[in-house]
Amino acid sequence: MEQRAFLLKAQFKEELQLVHTSQDLEALRVKFLGKKGLLQELVGFLKTATPEERPRLGQLINALKNDLTALCDEAFHTLSRVERLKQLDGEAIDVTLPGKRPFQGRKHPVRLLFDEVLDILVSMGFSIQEGPDVDSDYYNFEGLNYPKDHPAREMQDTFYISPEMLLRSHTSNVQLRVMETHAPPIRIVAPGTVYRNETISARSHVFFHQVEMLYVDKGVSFVDLFSTIDSFLKRLFGDSVKTRFRPSFFPFVEPGLEVDIGCTACASAGCSLCKYSGWLEILGAGMVHPEVLRNAGIDPEVYSGYAWGLGVERLALLRYGVKDIRFFTENDMRLLSQF
Ligand SMILES: [Zn+2]
Repeated sequence: MEQRAFLLKAQFKEELQLVHTSQDLEALRVKFLGKKGLLQELVGFLKTATPEERPRLGQLINALKNDLTALCDEAFHTLSRVERLKQLDGEAIDVTLPGKRPFQGRKHPVRLLFDEVLDILVSMGFSIQEGPDVDSDYYNFEGLNYPKDHPAREMQDTFYISPEMLLRSHTSNVQLRVMETHAPPIRIVAPGTVYRNETISARSHVFFHQVEMLYVDKGVSFVDLFSTIDSFLKRLFGDSVKTRFRPSFFPFVEPGLEVDIGCTACASAGCSLCKYSGWLEILGAGMVHPEVLRNAGIDPEVYSGYAWGLGVERLALLRYGVKDIRFFTENDMRLLSQF
C-alpha cells in the first residue's frame, strides 16, 4: 500500500512535467484526483486492510491527496500566468506600424475667403467693425434712407422678429452706428452674417456673409471709390483682372454702382458661369447718400464718403468653381476636405 502510494505520486510528478496547458492540467487532475481517479482506487484498498492498519493508511491517502492537490494548484497558477503573458504578447503594440492619423479640423472654405478678403482690406487701412445680427428697422432700413413703404425694401425679403426688430438683411446696419459714434475720418470694414427670407436655391440662401466698406472724410470722391475697388479686386484676382462699373440703385448711396469683373472661368470669352456675357457681377458700391450722413449727424456739405460691399459666398462660388451655394452649408466632408 505504501509503495503504491509512493509510485502514484512519482507517476503524477512525471506526467505533470508533460503538461503545457491548463486543459492538459485539468485532464491530469481528473485522472488522479477525480471521483473515478487513481487515488480513489487506493481508497478501495483500505477495505482489505486490517482495522489496526486502517487509520494509518487513511492518513497516508489523505496526505497524498493533499500533496497532489497542492501540486495541481501550483501548476495551475504557473500555467495561467504563462498563458496570460502569451496573450498580452499578442496584444502588444508594434511601434513600427504606421499610425492612424487623427482627424484634423480645418477652416471652412467660406471662412478662408473671408479671412483673405479681410486681410487685404485691413492692409489697405480699413479697420474691422462689427454690429448686431438682430437690429432695429431704423439701423437696417429707415436710417439708411429706406423710408417705410419704400419700394426698395421689397428688394430684400426680410425676417421680422417684431414690427420694429429684424434679422439684418445687410451689414450696412453697421454704417450708422459707427458714424453716430465716431467723427470722420472713418475707414471701416464691417464683416458679418446677413439674413434674407428667400427660397433656398443654387444661387441664394436664407443666410450668407457680407463684407461692407465705408470711408467718410473731407473730399472723398468717386475717383477714390474706383481706385480702391480696382486695387482690391487686383489683389484678390490678380493684376490682369478686368473691371467694369455700371450705374445701379441702392437707397443709401447716390450715385450707386454695380461692379463686374471679367469672367474668371472663360477669360471673358463667354461661358455658362457668366451666362455668355464675359462678365461676373461682384459687388455693389456708391457714394454715401447725403441723407444718411445727415441721419448720423455728419454734415454732407463738409464730408463725403463711399460705401461698397460684397457677398462672400458669391465670391466663393467664383473662386472655387462651386456650382451650388447650398454646398457651403451642407457640411459634406467630400467638399470641405478639399480645402
Ligand atoms: Zn465666363
